[in-house]
Amino acid sequence: MDNRLIFEKSDSGITANYVKKPEIGLKEPKEILPANYLRNDLELPSLGELEVVRHYTNLSKRNFSLDTNFYPLGSCTMKYNPKINEELSSLEGFLNLHPYQNEECLQGALELIYNLEALLCEITGMSRFSFQASSGAQGELTGMLMVRKYHKVMKNKKRKVIIPDSSHGTNPATSSMCGYETVVIESNKDGLIDLDKLNKAVDSETAAIMLTNPNTLGLFEENILEVAKIIHKNGGLLYYDGANFNPLLGITNPQLMGFDVIHLNLHKTFSTPHGCGGPGAGAVGVIDKLSGFLPAPVIDKKKDKFYFNYKIEHSIGKVRAFHGNFSVLVRAYAYLLRLGREGLVRVAQNATLNANYIREKLKNDYNLASSKPSMHEVVFSCTKQKEKGASALDIAKRLIDYGMHPPTMYFPLIVKEALMVEPTETESRKTLDYFIESMLKINKEIDENKEILHNAPSTTAVKRVDEVRAARNPNLRWTKEK
Ligand SMILES: *Cc1c(COP(=O)(O)O)cnc(C)c1O
Repeated sequence: MDNRLIFEKSDSGITANYVKKPEIGLKEPKEILPANYLRNDLELPSLGELEVVRHYTNLSKRNFSLDTNFYPLGSCTMKYNPKINEELSSLEGFLNLHPYQNEECLQGALELIYNLEALLCEITGMSRFSFQASSGAQGELTGMLMVRKYHKVMKNKKRKVIIPDSSHGTNPATSSMCGYETVVIESNKDGLIDLDKLNKAVDSETAAIMLTNPNTLGLFEENILEVAKIIHKNGGLLYYDGANFNPLLGITNPQLMGFDVIHLNLHKTFSTPHGCGGPGAGAVGVIDKLSGFLPAPVIDKKKDKFYFNYKIEHSIGKVRAFHGNFSVLVRAYAYLLRLGREGLVRVAQNATLNANYIREKLKNDYNLASSKPSMHEVVFSCTKQKEKGASALDIAKRLIDYGMHPPTMYFPLIVKEALMVEPTETESRKTLDYFIESMLKINKEIDENKEILHNAPSTTAVKRVDEVRAARNPNLRWTKEK
């Protein structure tokens, strides 16, 4: 394997440029452009076109992707997204739209957003949606800015946001960005919200609770109605982090559970390939009493015409240009129409079945984080393995040698040696069996030859990277060795 950078492969004087010198009196760039526009001091690599093509094609083959292997990354919903949705979002009519076209000739796109909103309202029980936010985290910020404005308009004195210790890291980040004090409550021994602790933490200054259900342990918060009662009684609101909504589709919804404002990651649950900062959409939904706070504009319909409605009384303003990542909305819409009601229920059932299948097959060899049944993901606690000399990290890295992406590790933070497995609804039983078999084999390897685990992965170009250093001291600049 040639691990050299493209700069190291560079061979001075070689170029991929084969444009002939102009013969018919056309001017060369240096004759037209001011001298300071032309630079000769850029240290660009010199390579032929074929070398460039090979360099990048070989690099691309080292990418790990859902199209190549199993990717059970917990709390991420790395599922297969039908290719037809890619084609539909690339239709010329969608692709070549410009947001400054007038409403007349945007009718098809506006109708799509309008219809998508109606479907998501039906699925979640919310009254309205905004599609501006480009990610789950930005959706949370949008939702919590609405919570803040709501309390301001209502003249409620609010200071605190309650967040369970099992929450996704973006939740406390969002609450802090909105200027709230974050009050963390410890989960009970089952991994659920502790009602006694919640009762003690809530008071008249509680602005909201931010929750996900199923929570990050993959468990259904069975006391959610009681939680809603406690928060609402104190004048607070319930924020629902619906990033991974798979297990609930068509089964129940956040409105029935008492939530007031939610976000869905269309790029996780509703079919857009994601990861590495690709385009996303954090669709933010609200119940009726918060609809006057949505980012403007929303899309409404008057006499068969769709239009941008900027008249939103207490709108928090815009959170992003235009209507967010429109192509993600097209994929979500195509996905929903294709599956329909029955298909969506099967998504929920299969996501849950797959997680529980893995749970049952591995629970004798790996400890579970909770004795409660799992929803769409299952969290193991590799403490037995740790005692024998192999950590969750070692196991995760060894899975790469078996051709699979590691599950989420050391999250949620409240679980020791956590491995969080989210198989998703799109994996076959054969794939799940291979994963299970590999996990069992790895467990045996700990007794037979721990070194294999400590040195894993052995099949990749890069072994174990120093993740802390990469985060604290990112140095991505190539400098020529002098
Ligand atoms: C992925 C995720 C988020 C954040 O979504 P991004 O699109 O990555 O910003 C928030 N909450 C939960 C529970 C998630 O799984």
